[in-house]
Amino acid sequence: LFARDVDFMRSAVSLETLPPPDLPEVCFAGRSNVGKSSLINALTNRKGLARASNTPGRTRELNYFNVDGRLFLVDLPGFGYAKASKSDIARWQILTKAYLRGRAGLRRVFLLIDSRHGIKPSDIEVMEMLDEAAVTYQLVLTKTDKLKKGQLEKVYKATQKRIKKRPAAYPNVMKTSSEKKDGLDSLRAEIADLALP
Ligand code: GDP
Repeated sequence: LFARDVDFMRSAVSLETLPPPDLPEVCFAGRSNVGKSSLINALTNRKGLARASNTPGRTRELNYFNVDGRLFLVDLPGFGYAKASKSDIARWQILTKAYLRGRAGLRRVFLLIDSRHGIKPSDIEVMEMLDEAAVTYQLVLTKTDKLKKGQLEKVYKATQKRIKKRPAAYPNVMKTSSEKKDGLDSLRAEIADLALP
């Protein structure tokens, strides 16, 4: 899937400017600095396709990518950015809530979790929102190269345990390192399963 064309389509700052929901869609969400743009770039093998969430102005755009005409990949604005103003946070919540609850075609949210930090309260807020909206989400641990094997297993097990009873959580947590290119093929396979044939 990702070996073919991946094209940046557009940035949307409001629901009115989203493309028509003509393709199945997955989105990537996570706290800022979680490694979201690195992961999107590593998955697609394209440097600079997605830009870091702490670059100015990135706190409020949804970025759409068309993957081989079979899937939309959506980069949601990062949340929990320390320097975000109250009005930025409010805008993030309004836009993403409306998007996550109401987007036809949204098949799964990949919620990225920094493996060094584990699940944070703001991640739980997002999971609660998704449980309520009955939108399936899958947790993806990032930057696994930063942990020793034993530490990573501990975080992985703890994370797995914490989603067990969450109604809309997809049962298996993924482990990835954009730096070492670990876990990318498994994640690509999950995404490919959701794309048009
Ligand atoms: P975003 O704000 O979520 O888009 O995060 P970025 O992709 O910009 O990454 C934030 C920081 O984490 C940057 O300094 C990256 O170089 C670093 N980073 C991202 N992914 C990895 C990874 O897999 N391993 C390591 N060691 N560092 C990473």
